[in-house]
Amino acid sequence: MIKPDRIVTTTCPYCGVGCNLQLYVKDDHIFKVASPFDSPVNHGNLCVKGRFGYDYVYHPKRVTTPLLRKIPQTPGKRTQAFDLSDWREVTWDEALDHVADRLIEIYKRDGSDAMAVYACAKATNEDNYLLQKMYRAIFRTNNIDHCTRLCHAGSVVALQQAVGSSAMSNTASQVSQNDVFIVTGSNTTENHPIIALQMKDAVRKHGAKMIVVDPRRIELVDFAEMWLPLKPGTNVPVFSAMAHVIVQENLVNHEFIANRTEGYQEFIKSLEKFTPEYAGEISGVPADDICKAARMYAGAKNAAIYWGMGISQLSHGTASAMALIHLAFLTGHIGREGTGLNPLRGQNNVQGASDMGCMPFHYPGYMRVDDEQNAAVWEKTWNVEAGGLSRKLGLTTTEILGQVHEGGIRSLYIMGENPMMSEPNLNETRRHMEQLEFLVAQDIFITESAAFADVFLPATPFAEKDGTFSNTDRRVQRVRAAHNPRGQARVDWQIICALALRLESRLGSFNQPETRLNSAFWEYSHPSDIFREMAGVNPDYAGVTYERIDNVGLIYPVPDEAHPGTPTLFTEDFPRGRGKFYPLDYVPAMEAVDDEYPFILTTGRVLEHWHGGSMTRNSSLNSVFPEARMEMHPADAEIHGIRNGDPVRVTSRRGEVVLRVIVTEKTTVGVVFIPFHFVEAAANLLTNDALDPQAKIPEFKACAVQVFPARMEELANPAAMVDRGRY
Ligand code: SF4
Repeated sequence: MIKPDRIVTTTCPYCGVGCNLQLYVKDDHIFKVASPFDSPVNHGNLCVKGRFGYDYVYHPKRVTTPLLRKIPQTPGKRTQAFDLSDWREVTWDEALDHVADRLIEIYKRDGSDAMAVYACAKATNEDNYLLQKMYRAIFRTNNIDHCTRLCHAGSVVALQQAVGSSAMSNTASQVSQNDVFIVTGSNTTENHPIIALQMKDAVRKHGAKMIVVDPRRIELVDFAEMWLPLKPGTNVPVFSAMAHVIVQENLVNHEFIANRTEGYQEFIKSLEKFTPEYAGEISGVPADDICKAARMYAGAKNAAIYWGMGISQLSHGTASAMALIHLAFLTGHIGREGTGLNPLRGQNNVQGASDMGCMPFHYPGYMRVDDEQNAAVWEKTWNVEAGGLSRKLGLTTTEILGQVHEGGIRSLYIMGENPMMSEPNLNETRRHMEQLEFLVAQDIFITESAAFADVFLPATPFAEKDGTFSNTDRRVQRVRAAHNPRGQARVDWQIICALALRLESRLGSFNQPETRLNSAFWEYSHPSDIFREMAGVNPDYAGVTYERIDNVGLIYPVPDEAHPGTPTLFTEDFPRGRGKFYPLDYVPAMEAVDDEYPFILTTGRVLEHWHGGSMTRNSSLNSVFPEARMEMHPADAEIHGIRNGDPVRVTSRRGEVVLRVIVTEKTTVGVVFIPFHFVEAAANLLTNDALDPQAKIPEFKACAVQVFPARMEELANPAAMVDRGRY
């Protein structure tokens, strides 16, 4: 048995559950991961990613030296370079000088609108806070976004409009207090495994009734009282029909509606057409089941809704989330323990990156950038002259790439994100990336996106950094380094500070004569200094300190240092005052099936992998799940003469992939499912880049595809985006 040199307590770098980890370290190498039994988040439980998915930290392909491309890249002719021989190893000074010179050249020539940055939901709060500060205070732009745009933007917009706050209203552990709960658009077992354990316990040990509303027969269906297998993209009619039943049968909470909401009368008029029969016809869910689910939810003492990307990743994702919010308003199942509206956030720190202002419309703390008072607060904090910060709303991730052209975005700085795997319609994304004038990648591997860069800045994974993550139920927790960075890699916040200092000195008086020329605003000795600066202005974090979260995290809002945290939101009122009903209409998915493309494709995760795969596919987990497989219902497989394991070519109006099939009743007739982690069969070559007009989230969850038999030798699909494999 190996005796560790030390055991480091930290937070899992994968999903938004935020499980507490103990890293067993020997000779500066993690050899085992466990979890403390007294963790309030996961009680000693870990999923396969948390327990075994850490060895990517030591993968030989990890880059730990700054790199510059050998052949200078030009707009329109930009190419990918996965091979180290295409890059030149340089010093940190040379790399950072080059980045500073090129960014300033573009900024001085084309102004703020030419600059854009992708923040990172895998990085810490402190990293993300500094990145948006650099782009806002130095380049005077709000073109800042991150992958929240691609997962829960619809939920964020709907919740902001209806209640004025976009995070989970209750904690995941409160599922044990639910009498009834709805799980929709979330394959929780594979996406948030430890929350799924809590859901199953709620059913088995506490007698709760679970209603699953999902196109796939996910594992939770085995524990559910009811499964409503709706067609992808039909959330609004199903949940509006449940609202219709609740109103028609007078199951509403009149007192809650009168005291806590507005817009009810107008809203119920919009419900008239959403009869269970109408919704049943559109969604395929029997009308009787819609009625039964409505009665169960409304009749419960405590009921809650948990949802995932199946609600938000649609061209009507905002309306889908709003339909769920209406159910809570109608019944008053919000503002108490064991109730609530709970969007399960995907990445480990997507909640935190949003809280830190890495979005185009908000400063840290969701303070609108077009509000004069807010801007003045941050100008003072960052020593920017009055009126210096941009009041113009920035571009979202999905818009930034679409605006890459002369007169538009010219430079992009990507910290840890991988749009060449995560954006929809990847062939179009590739064309946009090729047009960039200057691209910086700050990452740990040469990902599909970093391969396009001019400069590669080697950063560190979670195991080599200190800071904080904020999990899906608003719990701010410590992240601690197990050992020093490998090679010359640096932690993200130090890279940003070193670059910001160069930018400040090179810009001279360009932004602000005389007063701006000081380095005090970029010198921090520890991430806790950065956190303190942020928490000094962000009221949700005001009472959080590193000392207070040394053992157990705090759930924000924490308004002062005596405050114990706020597991349950909206107990008295909503941040916007009254909760607001919004009349809805049914808008189908943008792409309907037809004779040419008769299947609906839906995409998502599998338990063993994470997002674009740069971590899990470079870990031992890849040998457990090494290959993309498409799920197809047995009835469809029989009609098309497809057997389990057969290779197929899947085509959409935008691209094609070749992969093998799993014939399974996990999916429903007419619907196929492809996980989005595999570059050699990248699901996003197929997906539709149609956007929700409000949230600007793409329609990942529903597009029309065709399936043809293929030959085994076609499996390394030459038409795929990266025809040479991952690296
Ligand atoms: Fe990590 Fe999420 Fe698994 Fe917990 S459930 S171990 S946070 S991936």
